[in-house]
Amino acid sequence: MASVTFDKATRLYPGGEKPAVDQLELHIEDGEFLVLVGPSGCGKSTSLRMLAGLEDVNGGSIRIGDRDVTHLPPKDRDIAMVFQNYALYPHMTVADNMGFALKIAGVDKATIRKKVEEAADILDLRPYLDRKPKALSGGQRQRVAMGRAIVRQPQVFLMDEPLSNLDAKLRVSTRTQIASLQRRLGITTVYVTHDQVEAMTMGDRVAVLKDGLLQQVDTPRNMYDRPANLFVAGFIGSPAMNLVEVPITDGGVKFGESVVPVSRTALSAAADAGDRTVTVGVRPEHFDLGEEGGLAVTVNVVEELGADGYVYGTAEVGGVQRDLVVRVNGRQVPEKGSTLHVTPRSGETHVFSTSSGERLSD
Ligand code: ADP
Repeated sequence: MASVTFDKATRLYPGGEKPAVDQLELHIEDGEFLVLVGPSGCGKSTSLRMLAGLEDVNGGSIRIGDRDVTHLPPKDRDIAMVFQNYALYPHMTVADNMGFALKIAGVDKATIRKKVEEAADILDLRPYLDRKPKALSGGQRQRVAMGRAIVRQPQVFLMDEPLSNLDAKLRVSTRTQIASLQRRLGITTVYVTHDQVEAMTMGDRVAVLKDGLLQQVDTPRNMYDRPANLFVAGFIGSPAMNLVEVPITDGGVKFGESVVPVSRTALSAAADAGDRTVTVGVRPEHFDLGEEGGLAVTVNVVEELGADGYVYGTAEVGGVQRDLVVRVNGRQVPEKGSTLHVTPRSGETHVFSTSSGERLSD
């Protein structure tokens, strides 16, 4: 096992105007499960492929443990990759699929069988070892792809959207299985997904990318509690955080009636940069509801999810009508057209620079 270090790793595709991955600095601890997440085209796969050796690195370097692997061919990196399409060999049995890499490496038959059986036990695949992939369910195929990676006992697992071919329910159960399997095996894992829920539920830490640039790398908890900028604030959490521009006044920052805590120093820095507003963030689940006072939200649409409901409404904030989403108790959802009185919960507000997007509040 080993750590992984991206040291200003950069990939500029031939003919590209700007790098697909720009000076990525990221250290992944030995045994850690790190999720790379971001919208389509942000550079997740390129980062993973650079680590795998499938993509040239045009600047900076990549280390696995203390080995510089920047220019090593994939086969010398001691990694195993699980792809989105599992790419199982259709004419081979499950056992042969799982053992194929070892066979190519010249490992003897008895050892291959032992390792394949061990992996099959971990993955509940024992009864299927003699079947062909076409006689398996989607979830079982996915586990064979995992098994193929496990038998190699690599230093690092790389996974590129390995759950995207599964239906919603299977995706949820398989993500739990992969996360607990990774913890049991303790193999350093870099996992790519565009799905922030997957990122937040699986990763020890999550790295958010946008336009080839790393935005924040942190534990899921910190990412949710203290997003570093507007992009991360809007990307992590569902439904997304309400982000509302409000004026900077002598009294500080107000969201409706509520004073939003932010340091004087941060506010004067924003004002010095020429900003007249800041952007306040409140998650839908961080409003207190009352009979009166606070912000008066006109209810336009109510989404009922059983335990919770989400109110999509409008309210006047800082003199302008704004759209707001508010989570409510699923058994007490308000009527469409009614008015909901909400106050952002103390300690659950975020303030960002409107111009740079950087976080200003503590
Ligand atoms: P993601 O995995 O986050 O969806 P990618 O790493 O695949 O993003 O792509 C990052 C950027 O690099 C995108 O703008 C994409 O169009 C570009 N790109 C990806 N692969 C190639 C390639 N082989 N040649 C040129 N540009 C590419």
